[in-house]
Amino acid sequence: MTFSLDRSATLLKRAEALMPGGVNSPVRAFRAVEGTPPFINKASGAYLYDEDDHRYVDLVGTWGPAILGHAHPEVVSAVCAAAGRGTSFGAPTAAEVDMAEAIREFFPRMEMMRLVSSGTEACMSALRVARGATGRDAFVKFEGCYHGHADSFLVKAGSGAATFGEPNSAGVPADLAQHTLTLPYNDPEALKALFAARGDDIACVILEPVTGNMGVIEPTEAFLDALRTVPKAHGALVIFDEVMTGFRVHRGGAQALYDFPADLTCLGKVVGGGLPVGVYGGKAEYMRHVSPLGAVYQAGTLSGNPLATAAGLATLRLLTEATFDRAAAAADALTEGLRQVIAETGTEAVVVQVGTMLTLFFGGEIPTNFDQVSACDHARFGRFHRLMLEHGVYLPPSGYEAWFLSAEHGPDEINAVIEAARVALPGSAA
Ligand SMILES: *Cc1c(COP(=O)(O)O)cnc(C)c1O
Repeated sequence: MTFSLDRSATLLKRAEALMPGGVNSPVRAFRAVEGTPPFINKASGAYLYDEDDHRYVDLVGTWGPAILGHAHPEVVSAVCAAAGRGTSFGAPTAAEVDMAEAIREFFPRMEMMRLVSSGTEACMSALRVARGATGRDAFVKFEGCYHGHADSFLVKAGSGAATFGEPNSAGVPADLAQHTLTLPYNDPEALKALFAARGDDIACVILEPVTGNMGVIEPTEAFLDALRTVPKAHGALVIFDEVMTGFRVHRGGAQALYDFPADLTCLGKVVGGGLPVGVYGGKAEYMRHVSPLGAVYQAGTLSGNPLATAAGLATLRLLTEATFDRAAAAADALTEGLRQVIAETGTEAVVVQVGTMLTLFFGGEIPTNFDQVSACDHARFGRFHRLMLEHGVYLPPSGYEAWFLSAEHGPDEINAVIEAARVALPGSAA
């Protein structure tokens, strides 16, 4: 039987008349890999099921959140129970307090925090706090890092934007973008030089402390050292955007992995257990600037929503050391298996893994910044992606993305991915 996505293709036609690209978030359109996106009908554990009755081992995990696998029964029943009590009150609840306390156990540096409804909101609010607390407008981000789609961040912003060759979004006023100072990732000298020149204008430095939105790249020791000392010496804050790395490179995020004293932290993805949650927080002296305590305004009708909070809290309670270790062991096993197939097939590719995240890059060297990721063979990634899909593996549809493992990825699923790669790696050669 040949692989067909007829029903998905029909749905895509209808969708394209209604939504730009037929999707509600651009990378889902599979344009970068020149494929038809399967329309997903349901998900369970490590598997996705599409409208054409294919089953895939899922390595997207809804772009990170599904660290327990899909539709974990305890998360589902927590959400259902919450729904029965009412879906939104616009008033404080006990569950929000429980949730904030649970988050602070994972991230003790988040002394105070706010729950919001997306990673985008978390990052734009954290930036506002840094600007409000310092009285400065400029901030530093790194090429290839993505911090959501707020205007200030859509400058050299990784994955989605990079995939389409639009490093700077239309619709962002130049007057605003001028305050966004971008530097190459892993370049401590560039950071020092920028602070030497403009340090007193800079409110904060924001980064993905392990990148995911240009594929998985680790920060070098020298880069982290510069981040520890240089901004602080100029009165600027460091914001760890752990929307992707939080609970994923380590249960306590990259700040636990590297013992880094982040001033502010952004969370999303895993923290919502598959429902819309973002969180920003950090040192109380900064968070006290937020309204109603201070003059930095931020609000949300559905912030701390009972369903989202129920899913997030259930997920955090289930995310024990043992559960995290299962997901990380799955990533270890997949990395090792892929490296073996790469060696056996003589493919020019490398795998970079941190915790439960990894990326396979079609290039000869481990990339350390966005330019090096861009130099990888992305056309080959597209061919590889299509072959993997035909062999039952759902990968992120771009070579600028991280792959995500869950505690439900056991030896059967890992072996299935490795066997698919045994066909798709040589098959993807031009
Ligand atoms: C996904 C992501 C965001 C944006 O989160 P959304 O929930 O998609 O708005 C911000 N920062 C990082 C590092 C992310 O991976």
